Amino acid sequence: MNRAMRTINYQVAFSMARIWAIAMGLMVMLLFSILVPELRRMEQQQMRQQLARAVGLIQTDLESLRAFVRDWGAWDDAYHFMAEHDSRFVRSNLLTDMPMQDFRLNVMSFLDLSGHERWSRVRMPDVDPELLLDYPPFFERLKQELLPQVGRDGLQGLKSTSWGPALFAIFPITDSQRSQPNNGYLLVTRWLDDTYLQTLSERVAAPLQLRELVHAGETRHFMRLHEGSLYRVGYRGLGIMWGEVLLLDSQGKPGLVLRLESTRDLILGSAQVLLWTLLGTLLICLLCGLLAFRRLQAIVLQPLDALIHGVQQYAYDAEVQHLPSIDSSREMSILTRRFREMALRLSQRQQASQAYGQRMEQAAYLDPLTHCFNRRYLDAWLEQIDYRTSHHVLMILDIDHFKLVNDTHGHDMGDQILCQFADVLRRQLRHGERLVRLGGEEFLVIGECDSSAQAKAMVGRLRREIGQSDFGSPELPLGMTASIGFCLYPLGAEKHQAGWKLCLKLADIALYRAKLNGRNTWVGVTCDVDGPLPLLQAEELIRREVVHLLQPEDK
Ligand code: GH3
Ligand code: MG
Ligand code: MG
Repeated sequence: MNRAMRTINYQVAFSMARIWAIAMGLMVMLLFSILVPELRRMEQQQMRQQLARAVGLIQTDLESLRAFVRDWGAWDDAYHFMAEHDSRFVRSNLLTDMPMQDFRLNVMSFLDLSGHERWSRVRMPDVDPELLLDYPPFFERLKQELLPQVGRDGLQGLKSTSWGPALFAIFPITDSQRSQPNNGYLLVTRWLDDTYLQTLSERVAAPLQLRELVHAGETRHFMRLHEGSLYRVGYRGLGIMWGEVLLLDSQGKPGLVLRLESTRDLILGSAQVLLWTLLGTLLICLLCGLLAFRRLQAIVLQPLDALIHGVQQYAYDAEVQHLPSIDSSREMSILTRRFREMALRLSQRQQASQAYGQRMEQAAYLDPLTHCFNRRYLDAWLEQIDYRTSHHVLMILDIDHFKLVNDTHGHDMGDQILCQFADVLRRQLRHGERLVRLGGEEFLVIGECDSSAQAKAMVGRLRREIGQSDFGSPELPLGMTASIGFCLYPLGAEKHQAGWKLCLKLADIALYRAKLNGRNTWVGVTCDVDGPLPLLQAEELIRREVVHLLQPEDK
């Protein structure tokens, strides 16, 4: 269908739907471009905080290890124990399990100055025994590495081992005043095993996992978190976010990677809120659209329909009252008012042109002098009468010696007499009868008539009236006479226009005979034939007496 032919409803709905779709799209884009980066920043911040908290807790643990070795290392009893083995010290302090349990130590080792173990205790419940085979060489390496570095304030840090990362702290053993040179070292380690990670996860309130160590070269993908710790974040699918924290060991190499995964509640929650917001907006838009449509319907569409209907009715019978007057809106009220004004002017013009047409018709069919019908009217009338049912007498009247009037009293008097003559004849007409001026002073009266007797009576009456009427003026009264020829229609079975014209011709011949008979008389033509007439001229019909001539008996 042609687009211009679509209804207002359709076009408005279509363009509104498009506008809404674009508006919603823009809204979504705007919200996403504002919200998503902000939400990402927030969730990364959140992740960073959690990672920092985990690192902080490990640091705290390391601090407590450091405090532990410092307390024990600068303790007179330990100093004496290193100088001289004291089983009482061992019994009352070391075998109580208290330090191991309280600090969850895996190794607690008293070393002499050259690194030999004076007293050690190893407690590694969660470590695979097979992996523990690596422990002695590791411990040797650790001692060799750490002892040369231990200063007055001890040393602590993180070490990566084949069974996982471990926190360690070492402190020189001296007297409580720290006035004596140290006579050994106290070394403790604590592995970050599953139990540790579990506890840490509970403290951070997020599940932490131990990851494989990255190579030193890969640290460039990480960002700095704190001194000695780096972090990075990433996404798995749309709904999972992960963060990894890398703790550097005492030598600045990667010592521990912890990973934390969390669902992206912020993003998912926001997406849900966004979705509901959009759906809500869409629903509100639809409702508003619906209401707007109803208003449009009431204000424009229904009035338009009424107007269209009214115009259709008006086109059918041109009645102004068909056009409705509508006041649903200013525009509709103006439109309908203009329509009514237009229709009113149109019908006024139509009436005027009808009146003009009637006047023109009358002018065309009336003789301007006598106001009788003229020959043009006669021709038109002959076109529309029903020849089969009509019964007429055609009477042609010609004023006698009219030329004499013109010549004697002037043309104006002649005109006046013509009018008076027409008036006399017109007064004798009955309903349905017609008076035609054939030309000059010759008139045709078409009377309703069934028989020659009736026709004779009519002609007699006309003659009488003409004879008794006053013509001319009061100063110059004139008596006028007329000769009349008439013919009855139909003649025989000639019930058609040609038959009618034949009758007219015969009436004319009859008039001529009346003139010949001395004027102021009449001659009529009748016919007794019941069937069709022979195909002959009018004169021939008279000569052969197919038709009969009637004359006044008193003649
Ligand atoms: P007849 O008795 O044989 O009919 O004689 P007539 O003089 O009446 O006949 P004729 O046909 O010789 O003359 C008719 C005259 O009518 C001639 C013409 O000047 C005059 N006439 C025709 N039309 C008009 C008209 O409109 N006004 C006037 N005043 N005279 C007219
Ligand atoms: Mg004449
Ligand atoms: Mg005449």
